[in-house]
Amino acid sequence: MSPDTSRYRERRDLDRSPEPDAGTGEHRTESDEPRFVVQEHEASSHHYDLRLEVSGVLKSWAVPKGPSTDPSVKRLAVATEDHPLEYVDFEGTIPRGEYGEGRVIVWDTGTYENMSRDDEGEPIPVDAGYGRGHIAVWLHGQKVAGGYALTRFRPDDQWLLVKMDDAESDARRRPTSTQPESVQTGRTVDELPEPGDQES
Ligand code: MN
Repeated sequence: MSPDTSRYRERRDLDRSPEPDAGTGEHRTESDEPRFVVQEHEASSHHYDLRLEVSGVLKSWAVPKGPSTDPSVKRLAVATEDHPLEYVDFEGTIPRGEYGEGRVIVWDTGTYENMSRDDEGEPIPVDAGYGRGHIAVWLHGQKVAGGYALTRFRPDDQWLLVKMDDAESDARRRPTSTQPESVQTGRTVDELPEPGDQES
């Protein structure tokens, strides 16, 4: 599967938005491990975007309530268009009138390990898991860590994100509330310029 970010580019005017174009190669490569990011996105509806580096793109889901650390909590995750790898450390303000208008911070990021398996319990690539509608990953983040399962429950891009029960699960933590700062810059979304304040 070759990287295809055409849907990403179709939706955006990258002359107006500070979001990165695909193919610039301007993303950190401090590790050979695939990376993940959770970006807080204060858009028309506030949500968190979970993205996993898979086969040269970032497979992406919009998670309205963000990830939980409680294994008993199921979080809706709506699959969105593949994003370019360069998006993994994007923080900034998407201007008024542009797709995704609003503010974005890198709420958490790190590497991950694929734990996806087929019905026989054999390891499969994340791509294959995506096609089958079930992915399991072990996240190495600062706020979210350990196993997470993504399971598609409807054909129309609706998935559930659930913390797996392991040493990193904790029913009492609320990191989306108690740890709102960007792991990249220490800023909260409220500290970025509002869309209307941008020069264009
Ligand atoms: Mn978003």
